Order: sequence, then structure tokens, then C-alpha cells
Amino acid sequence: MGKLDGKIALITGGSHGMGAADAKLFAAEGARVIIGDVLDDEGQALADSIGAEYRRLDVTSESNWTEVVADIDENIGHIDILVNNAGIVAFTPVATTELSEWNRVIEINLTGVFLGIRSVAASMKAAGGGVIVNLSSSAGMMGYSNLSAYVASKWGVRGLTKAAALDLGPDNIRVVSVHPGGIRTPMTAGMEGNEMYASQAIPRIGEPEEVAKLVLYLVADATYSTGTEFIVDGGATVGQALNF
Ligand code: NAP
Repeated sequence: MGKLDGKIALITGGSHGMGAADAKLFAAEGARVIIGDVLDDEGQALADSIGAEYRRLDVTSESNWTEVVADIDENIGHIDILVNNAGIVAFTPVATTELSEWNRVIEINLTGVFLGIRSVAASMKAAGGGVIVNLSSSAGMMGYSNLSAYVASKWGVRGLTKAAALDLGPDNIRVVSVHPGGIRTPMTAGMEGNEMYASQAIPRIGEPEEVAKLVLYLVADATYSTGTEFIVDGGATVGQALNF
């Protein structure tokens, strides 16, 4: 018997990286998984390989969200779980960040999460409740240089999670944020050996499966947690190691 038997789960940005790890684990635990992404070939291939479904879903598009959620409601069932995982990063110092670049990061990383929460709320209420997991970051717990738009978007996700948890609690919908540190995905390609990992309490990059196990715990077992942060970062946000 799987931990998610009978559950319907939509995972955004699930074609590769952490979203794909969530999709594989959820499917193995019995969930009916729908991968939403803009990478159609990769998303469809992954869905086929794990017995999931794929839908094209650009998280910045209000109409796309409406179509996809209506399609799932009609043809699969009410959504029990949403993982707002899609995201992008832009490595630029604040003084030279183009407005278009700032807007693009905020649009995908923060507005996309808002649209996702708003779009599934009625479906989850109809299901009798649900769980929404929003991917923030260690960059939603502290600052990083050369990442101003990303940091702002991830702090925004952390705050939105708290407000949404209060609004949706009466409908039996829990909303939590997950804060990974550096994880080995296409987003961090080439950064596996970065020296920043050496000063962490766990001095290595994380694996997507280590995050997926936390996400599974949050949707399946964390029945008394909502509006709060769950950190999976090898100790990156714990503090600074000193060498006296
Ligand atoms: P990833 O490997 O780049 O995967 C993200 C997925 O989201 C990709 O398939 C991406 O497609 C997709 N995507 C981008 N824009 C989209 C849009 N408008 N609509 C739908 N899908 C879209 O990223 P990841 O490393 O797995 O990260 C997953 C989440 O964790 C992100 O929110 C990220 O910010 C966060 N995070 C990552 C790390 C890390 O170290 N990797 C650390 C902390 C937090 P494209 O490839 O075409 O962009």
C-alpha cells in the first residue's frame, strides 16, 4: 500500500530536476501524477515512463492554469496535492539587473505560485481538502550576492505561503514552503564542486531525491503543519563556520 494511494497530484516544472524526483516518488507511492511544464518532450517521456500524465502548463499564464485544472477536474478528478516547483534563476548583481530580467524571475517564481494556489483552491475544497507545497529556497531564508531577483522571489514565496495557509485553513488545505540549498539539477549544472559547499555542516551538494523525500513527508504525514518552512540545505543556513 502506497502513502499516496488514490491521491491526485499536480507538479509544476516536473519534467526534470526536483520536480521529476517528486513525480517519480509520488507515482511509486500510488499517486495519480500530472506533470505540468513547458518542456513537452521531456515531460511526456517522463510521464510515460512512470505511468503519469503530462500537461503543458506555463505557470505564468492565467488561462493555461484555468484550462489545465478544469481538464484535470473533468477527466481525472479533484486535485489533492499541488507542488509549485517550477522556477528559474538569474545570476546578476542588483545594480545591473535589467527590469525585464527582474520581471521574468518574479513572474515565474512568485506570480506562478500565486496563480497555482488560486487555481487549485476550489478543486481542493471540492476534494475535502488538500496540500500545497511551494518550492522556495535557502535564498528565501537569507540573502545571496548576485541573485537579487531570485532572493526577492523566494522570500515572496515564503510570505505568500503563510498568508495562503491562513486563508485556506478553513477549507482543510495546508500550505507549506520547502527551502532547499544547492541541489544537483539542471539549474545548478556545473556547480557541483563549488567551494560554497565546503563550509556547510554537510559539505556537499544535495540530491533531488533527498528533497523529494521531504516533500512526500509534507504531503502524506505532516498533518499538523501549515504555513511554515521546511529546510533541506545541508546546513547552509545554520550559520558561519569559523576557523580560529
Ligand atoms: P530545474 O532543473 O531548472 O527545473 C525547473 C523546471 O521548471 C524546468 O523543467 C523548467 O523548464 C520549468 N519551468 C521554467 N519556467 C516555467 C514556466 N513558466 N512554467 C512551467 N515550468 C517552467 O530546477 P530545479 O533545480 O529542479 O528547481 C526546482 C525548484 O526548486 C525551483 O523553484 C528552484 O528555484 C528551486 N530551488 C532549486 C535549488 C537548486 O539548487 N537546484 C535550490 C533551491 C531552490 P526550463 O528548463 O525550460 O526552464
